[in-house]
Amino acid sequence: MKTLLTHSPEEAAAFLRRGEVVAFPTETVYGLGADAFDEEAVRTIFAAKGRPADNPLIVHLADLGRLARVAARVPPAARLLIDAFFPGPLTVILPRRADVPALVSGGLPTVGVRMPRHPVAQAFLAACGVPVAAPSANRSGRPSPTTWEAVRADLEGRIPCILVGERTEAGLESTVVDCTGETPVVLRAGVVTLEALRAVHPATRLAEPAAEALARSPGARYRHYAPRARVRLIDAPGEAEPGPDAAYIGLAPPPAPEAFGLVRVCASVEDYAHALFDFFRRCDAAGLRTIHCERVPPAGLGLALMDRLRRAAQG
Ligand code: AMP
Ligand code: MG
Repeated sequence: MKTLLTHSPEEAAAFLRRGEVVAFPTETVYGLGADAFDEEAVRTIFAAKGRPADNPLIVHLADLGRLARVAARVPPAARLLIDAFFPGPLTVILPRRADVPALVSGGLPTVGVRMPRHPVAQAFLAACGVPVAAPSANRSGRPSPTTWEAVRADLEGRIPCILVGERTEAGLESTVVDCTGETPVVLRAGVVTLEALRAVHPATRLAEPAAEALARSPGARYRHYAPRARVRLIDAPGEAEPGPDAAYIGLAPPPAPEAFGLVRVCASVEDYAHALFDFFRRCDAAGLRTIHCERVPPAGLGLALMDRLRRAAQG
């Protein structure tokens, strides 16, 4: 299969309306979308990614008017968070309407819904005219793609079209919040911080222990975000072992930067989050064997960054 690169949201949307899958940029990472009501097309997403069938997809909407098309109910907690954070990098879990294919939700009775704020994503979703089911546009287990080149590296020849945009703004995925009960529960830390959620709904809590997140969000069980190189978490840059096949990423510079194959010193936690997945992919492309990653305090965006670092280190 030939993979077309286009800058036209309309041209990309035409593929989706024909029942095909399309990669598109958002403010978090690139997504791989299909018409959420076309079960065959949704199946193609799982096949192209090599994604386990019980790992649910997020349904992307162009506007809130379509929420009732996919959600059976919008509980009060969900309404609060939607009013505060849509459009943006937040996914709310709601009761699923029975006519949304179960495959979209990995068989769960719920559905994850998000409305991106990225202008290209909005133009694409509006041109699609239907709710778009989309996970991240990487091969399953690989770091999420933050550039169209990363999408092409993983999916060229496996999907018919990539909607080309800039490198994504956030570089990490959306925050996933279960809003089916009275209290919002964060199933996956992400770009919208726990602090920001609590400013709107003070009772919001993290799914703890890990078993709760696993039970409610099957995707959390799988190996994720991992480069081929070994990821080692360190508390201070001095702990990084230099070498031509070693890399370092962190907030403070390592003692001998020239002794590493690749080094990325980040200006802030935001910059670190923005750079991480692309850095992992560059390390793999350079054939490096170990990536030393400086830990950050688990507050603000640091909570999501540490979640991704820990998962990558488990890989
Ligand atoms: P991805 O877009 O590749 O990050 O994958 C979407 C992730 O969103 C899944 O792995 C789950 O963690 C989460 N998710 C999507 N829909 C649901 C749902 N109905 N219930 C719980 N988690 C969900
Ligand atoms: Mg993913």
